[in-house]
Amino acid sequence: MQKTLSIIKPDGVSKKLIGEVVRVFDSAGFRVAAMKMKSLSRTEAEGFYYVHKERPFFTELVEFMTSGPVVVMVLEGDDVIKRNREIMGATDPAEAAPGTIRARWADSKQNNIIHGSDSEESAKFEISYFFSEIEIF
Ligand code: ATP
Ligand code: MG
Repeated sequence: MQKTLSIIKPDGVSKKLIGEVVRVFDSAGFRVAAMKMKSLSRTEAEGFYYVHKERPFFTELVEFMTSGPVVVMVLEGDDVIKRNREIMGATDPAEAAPGTIRARWADSKQNNIIHGSDSEESAKFEISYFFSEIEIF
């Protein structure tokens, strides 16, 4: 079984979409193996998105990710990294396939409701960034 990290971003939490998003994961057959609500510090957000530190949108992205609490989850399932990315839809909601989380609820390329790990390597890093072994069920 594969694991991935999902984050309901501050816009998803403030738009009261926690239940909707978890419902989508449940319906997809993913198992929620860990979950917590958390306010990211600037340092935590910068560390999480360090791969994007040279990108022009990095400062804004960190600002956005620290603008309110997030819900961090570990999801488990067959091929869950790729399947979760499919269910999320493209980064830009205008390009996201109909029915995906971002097509349904995201407002913009930045305010796009949700994060999902994009590879086995990033999933490993991102899960251990937020959860210790004993917090994952
Ligand atoms: P995520 O990593 O959050 O799951 P992603 O893999 O679809 O999203 P990335 O290219 O990794 O997209 O970008 C990380 C996040 O940075 C995006 O989800 C979005 O919030 C923000 N972002 C990406 N590109 C832009 C952009 N051109 N302008 C503003 N924000 C952006
Ligand atoms: Mg990404």
